[in-house]
Amino acid sequence: MPKRVVFTPDALDEEFGQQILSRVEAHGLEVELLKSNRITNLRGADTADTYRRAKSTLAVVKAPPSALRLQPTPPSADWQMNLAEGCPAHCQYCYLAGSLSGPPVVRVFANLPQLLENTAQYEQAGRLTSFEVSCYTDVLGIEHLTGSLAECIRYYGQREGARLRFVSKYDHVDSLLSLPHQGHTRARFSLNAEPIVRRLEAGTASLEARLQALRRLALPVTEGGGGYPVGVVLAPIMPIPDWQQHYTHLLDRLAATLNFDCDLTVEFISHRFTPGSKDVLLQWYPNTSLDFDEATRAVKRNKFGGHKYVYQPDDMRTLKEWFYQEWQRRFPHAPIKYWT
Ligand code: SF4
Repeated sequence: MPKRVVFTPDALDEEFGQQILSRVEAHGLEVELLKSNRITNLRGADTADTYRRAKSTLAVVKAPPSALRLQPTPPSADWQMNLAEGCPAHCQYCYLAGSLSGPPVVRVFANLPQLLENTAQYEQAGRLTSFEVSCYTDVLGIEHLTGSLAECIRYYGQREGARLRFVSKYDHVDSLLSLPHQGHTRARFSLNAEPIVRRLEAGTASLEARLQALRRLALPVTEGGGGYPVGVVLAPIMPIPDWQQHYTHLLDRLAATLNFDCDLTVEFISHRFTPGSKDVLLQWYPNTSLDFDEATRAVKRNKFGGHKYVYQPDDMRTLKEWFYQEWQRRFPHAPIKYWT
């Protein structure tokens, strides 16, 4: 639950914005109606105070016209479709650090129906076009207040040529179980070794809660589940002390949880950071135990001149071989989408 909820005038002009307002009020939250479309009072006395204020603020805004120009998002999906930017959780390796500028407030888009309809022009005839809705937020972390994910699932349920993908570290899936998704949405959960979840992912659902949410969405409708295609995003993979033992335990728990036939995929993402994300994360989490030592990493450059730090090739090979082998042994029919 956010401590502060603000609506911009433009957001209130949107029918979907009004729906979010009703939901927020139904949760007993007080709402601040802003006079202009600029969100003010986010800066605190210092970085830590600004972080705390922003993370506990939910701002409902109208997405700018630039949001209508979609960006590709390989290897996860063809295109990003953002229903919000910012996330209420506190992962110390957060992927958003360094990619979203300013205080980390959660901005929810009130013109979602317009954003969804806009994606139709990106569909390509003769092939399935995929849209990733979790690039800049945790969609389930805010769903109880917005209903935005349900809106997306319903929309793509009607699109023959499009597929929706989301990923979450939260577990409230009740409202998704009976939606008409038509198998067009793949519901994925971000999982990791227990010590990483406990130490580095504050404010998220426990590992067990995520596993049970995954199970409920994957179970056939006839057995009370959601009947969704599902997925696991194992990320960020880190060779912590005794990593084989911890990840073996995780994969065994997953196999025990999904002890029935289901449409399952996996994505493996090893830990990486950029100079910019390290800088922001060390300001947000100055006491983190996360390994940010460039000396033990390899540099990976991108085509725009930027670079990131990834594991050394030998370490990467060891990790990749182990994960591929252990996954295929337990889930021979669940495709590995990629390793990165
Ligand atoms: Fe960042 Fe994802 Fe964690 Fe949210 S759940 S804080 S977006 S890593």
